[in-house]
Amino acid sequence: MICAHRGSLAHCLADPSSHSQGFESFEDGLLLIEDGHVVSIGPAQESMANLSADIPITEHSNAVLVPGFIDCHIHYPQTDVIASYGTQLLDWLQNYTFPAEVAFADANHAAANAEFFLEELLKNGTTSALVLASVHKVSTEALFAAAHQRRMRIAAGKVLMDRHCPDNLRDTARSGYAESRELLERWHGQDRLLYAITPRFAVTSSDEQLILAGQLAAEFPDTLIHTHLAENPDEVQWVSELFPQARSYLDVYQRAGLLRERAVFAHCLHLQQPDYESMASSGAGIAFCPTSNLFLGSGLFDLARAKQQEIRVGLATDVGSGTSFSMLQTMNEAYKVLQLQQQSLSSPEALYLATLGAAKTLGIKDKVGSFEPGKEADFVVLDNTATPLLKRRIQITNTLEETLFAYMILGDDRSVRSTYILGEQAYRRGEV
Ligand SMILES: [Zn+2]
Repeated sequence: MICAHRGSLAHCLADPSSHSQGFESFEDGLLLIEDGHVVSIGPAQESMANLSADIPITEHSNAVLVPGFIDCHIHYPQTDVIASYGTQLLDWLQNYTFPAEVAFADANHAAANAEFFLEELLKNGTTSALVLASVHKVSTEALFAAAHQRRMRIAAGKVLMDRHCPDNLRDTARSGYAESRELLERWHGQDRLLYAITPRFAVTSSDEQLILAGQLAAEFPDTLIHTHLAENPDEVQWVSELFPQARSYLDVYQRAGLLRERAVFAHCLHLQQPDYESMASSGAGIAFCPTSNLFLGSGLFDLARAKQQEIRVGLATDVGSGTSFSMLQTMNEAYKVLQLQQQSLSSPEALYLATLGAAKTLGIKDKVGSFEPGKEADFVVLDNTATPLLKRRIQITNTLEETLFAYMILGDDRSVRSTYILGEQAYRRGEV
């Protein structure tokens, strides 16, 4: 089945901050898709001249098509704790997160929440995500089943947590290993799904649990690894007390065999210089979570420093301590986090962090993240007339870069007209 989509198109071929040709756009472009994959992208007039007359063309007027957003770090059991008033990380976990996650032992509760969560992603133009479930195996099952049905490219894993948490959220080093392995064998590589071995963070996993997680990661080297790292100063201090033998927080993971390609560490606000080097040489990546870092007062992510070291970085919402499912709103806050550090973020760079850069971070750049031929055709149709203010602002932009900047500052779920998965419309605003 071949079809084409006509409209303004924008995507990244490389990081625009270091490659002058990294950002490619067409004011009037044509995206040709066959069997859910991109065949070609180019200027509409030229492309249509070579197109057979029977190929259906969907016209997207007053719109910009970009690759589906990729959220590099999000907690699906925390959907309902978004916007909970609190202090900082460790209290927030105790007061909101742990009580909410207890309910995910129930398969029906998990299934209902997974449905809402995935619909919310699609509504925001997010087609791929790296997701933490709760400690319960059934919570991960529910998420994978719902994502499979929608054919979304989701990587997820059961949280591993065997200490410093409520009893009803605790696994053991051995049960955590066994259940992760069962889930991995059932879901990893199933259509578009991927498994992520997911110790919550060093505070809530014993040495033994981390070592077994590392063992599993070595047994299945094409899985992802997903955890938190150096988010909050009190957390960093606690980790140094729990693991006195480790050189640093990152070293705790490294010693357990959890530092490698396709390992994704959320936050990384308080790293030491040798950590940047280890991260870079291992090929691991960082999930940059600006709304969460501001909300919990955790700190400011130093993007320039990570880029200097050529570390992979992708953007992430970190809902529920993140304050929006919208990757556009997340770009907005990323821009401000960087402004406070005399750094900047152009709209092509922001788009890169939310698409191709994120795909590289998750090890799925061959599949998604741009409109390069052969890739899976996940995309978002952004609506230039979504709100009166956005419409007014976009009317006076001169380039697609300026238009995208208006989206990243003013945009949110209202700006998403429709979302496509493998070339098929999976969400349209205003339709159930
Ligand atoms: Zn998180």
